Amino acid sequence: MDNKPQLIIRMGSHAEKEYILKLSKQFDGIIVGANIVEATAGATASLLGQKLKIPYYIDPMTYVFGCDLEGIMSERKIKGKKKPVKDYKRAYKRLAPELGDIFSNTLEKHRPISPENFTATALKQVCQKVIDYQLKRLHREFEKDDEYKEYADSIPRPAGVFSPYFFINSDDWFRLFLNLSKTSAAIKPGPPVYSVLCADYKMLIDKSFIDRAVAGIPKTGVKGVWLWFSNFDEWVVQEKYLGAFKSLVEQLSENGLEVYNRHGGYFSLALNKVGMSGISHGVGYGEKKDVLQIKGPPNAPVVRYYLPDIYRRLGMLEIERCFNDLNITTPTDFYEKICDCVICKGVVKNSILDFQRFGEMHYATSESKRQSQTSAAAKRCRFHFLVNRIIEKDFIGGNDLAAIIQKISDAEEKWKEQLPIINNSRHIARWKAVLSS
Ligand SMILES: [Zn+2]
Repeated sequence: MDNKPQLIIRMGSHAEKEYILKLSKQFDGIIVGANIVEATAGATASLLGQKLKIPYYIDPMTYVFGCDLEGIMSERKIKGKKKPVKDYKRAYKRLAPELGDIFSNTLEKHRPISPENFTATALKQVCQKVIDYQLKRLHREFEKDDEYKEYADSIPRPAGVFSPYFFINSDDWFRLFLNLSKTSAAIKPGPPVYSVLCADYKMLIDKSFIDRAVAGIPKTGVKGVWLWFSNFDEWVVQEKYLGAFKSLVEQLSENGLEVYNRHGGYFSLALNKVGMSGISHGVGYGEKKDVLQIKGPPNAPVVRYYLPDIYRRLGMLEIERCFNDLNITTPTDFYEKICDCVICKGVVKNSILDFQRFGEMHYATSESKRQSQTSAAAKRCRFHFLVNRIIEKDFIGGNDLAAIIQKISDAEEKWKEQLPIINNSRHIARWKAVLSS
């Protein structure tokens, strides 16, 4: 197969702009959630419509309106009132009417969308609105700004549009999923239409569900499908789920669909050899995601160091404890045995002790009780991860499955006796088994 896997970066906030602008030429596209568009419309429009010259997608985020609505609420302090007031987040309040009446009513009645809300007329209206939103939202933002108005027509169209999608946990939701896909495809908006198959990862081994998906999606007329199996954690799930996922990708692509994993890591990328068109994830996280947990973690977690051999982020100390056994004593050893990317060459310069700069901690403010990772260290970890992901993508694009498996085998051999990381590298054997089968 000569198709290289596509790497589409998901932007979680404008704070990540630096990474995206710097590496944009090596990404195949960028995807931004409609909630981010609504929270920062001007900045997003100028980023996607002007600054970045790469294909973009807007994720309409319709699924959140079918989940527990607490997920899109937050508490706000209001002047003169003692108790904070709980309300929908502004971005979602703005988004709902953009997507259609069903969505606005959901917020008004404080009742999540359910399949019964979709009459035949509603189905058509929703698909049209959700697609129009993706096609025209940035354009509208430019038009409303005197300074940018004249550039409005030069904004490229999105590389593809998504049909409205929800978390599928019943037959009714599944039928609606197919109907939404079909109705959206029938609109023929210009850019290709993609549907999002969003369900719990345990559904991967539900044969009837998978058979219906494989048979049903190609008939809807969509160009491709983005898979989102909630909590499908490539590093943790049992082999049977990895195998089922691989088989699903194979079958969908054999049926003529482009297949993407909305939150995937190296395993998904390697499935390019059996038909995966591409993956997306964030700049330093997001290689797996729980659908029902809409809110992010309360505190910024430590960004760990991605160990290229193992394709996983690990604690600094665990990796460092292996240095002795692996005979890593100089920076040159480090480049040879851990990573020789441009970031690591800049960080690990004088001694292997420099490796600790990826984990640098400090007291963020004079009142901080606990140390946290410095932003410079987090930035090093993210850049090192992204640079490696780009290298991985090129490696997979330029090699056959046998070479990919061989590389995993070599790493397994090299690391198998390294006790500090052994518990975090068990996925390697599973990946190898599934990719080889
Ligand atoms: Zn590196």
